[in-house]
Amino acid sequence: MILPKTPRLTADQVTELNAIVGEFGCKLQPIVGAVRTIYAIVGDERDELMINRIEGLPYIERVDRIQSPHKLMDRRSDLASHRIKLGGFTLGEQLLVIAGQCTIDPKNPNFFYETAAAVKEAGANVIRGGVWKPRTNPYTFQGDAKSLDILMEGARRTGLPVDAEVMDEAQLRLALDAGVPMLQVGARNALNYSLLRAIGAAVAGRDTVVLLKRGLHMGPLNEFISAAEYIVSFGNPNVLLCPRGTSPALDGYRNHPDESITPLLKEKTWAPVVVDPSHSVGKAAYVPACALAAVAYGADGLCIEAHVQPAKGIGDDPKQALTPDVLKTTITQARQLWAMRRG
Ligand code: PEP
Ligand code: MN
Repeated sequence: MILPKTPRLTADQVTELNAIVGEFGCKLQPIVGAVRTIYAIVGDERDELMINRIEGLPYIERVDRIQSPHKLMDRRSDLASHRIKLGGFTLGEQLLVIAGQCTIDPKNPNFFYETAAAVKEAGANVIRGGVWKPRTNPYTFQGDAKSLDILMEGARRTGLPVDAEVMDEAQLRLALDAGVPMLQVGARNALNYSLLRAIGAAVAGRDTVVLLKRGLHMGPLNEFISAAEYIVSFGNPNVLLCPRGTSPALDGYRNHPDESITPLLKEKTWAPVVVDPSHSVGKAAYVPACALAAVAYGADGLCIEAHVQPAKGIGDDPKQALTPDVLKTTITQARQLWAMRRG
């Protein structure tokens, strides 16, 4: 819908607009109001170039799009009936819980195995473990490819699927070759379109699930949903949207908690929303409340950092990992709340 700056366009302006939309296979339909005339674009109005050309005209105020720019992720898309499955778990039938260490310590694999067993016992459906880590400080531990074997051994011992972040194509290849069933795109890479495309292409034709974190500085929800569209456009629709707090932080928290965007996401897209309360608030003491808030807002799942001995963990674990007993209580309460919301 084209909104001009003036109440009515001149005949020359209408001719110019008609020529532009015509180039893109569309037509112009004036909608004459008492005070103002606006112009509907009849046809596929999603072409960015057409919109940019119209918005660049000096007599146009703006173009409001009715069609969604992310046609596959849109709630109205045929994919809305798709159910994402992972290791016997179907999203939407129960609250999905991904839990485990922020970072696997390759020197102490037993911590990971013990944590994996404990989070399974606490009720988790997927074990998370960071193999390669995006660290703000280049002198801190960056992860280690050796941890991939530890991650897969944790999967074998528990019989549960595992999740790990990949930051480049070499890691993507190693993770897929090792059989990692859930790949994580981290907050720092959520707008890395080359990586999103590479992941989309690599997981097409497989049943791999991608957990897409919300970018640290992401603003409009369309930015987040369009990042998922990049992956899904290659043919694998198994994408989970993961709000994890944005920057700048709310004073006292690690980030600005954003679990409240869950209902907004669910209005626009069919994709399940799996909230990460751990990176959102960044302190173990605040994580359970944030997890419950996410479920109250309608989340389909949670991704929570946990460790058998948080103080002995590396990466984020000492400050934000839950101990297995707190994790268990949180999962129990979250599942009760999830069931209550279902009525
Ligand atoms: C993580 O999951 O440990 C992580 C680094 O997350 P994020 O990308 O959300 O910061
Ligand atoms: Mn972490």
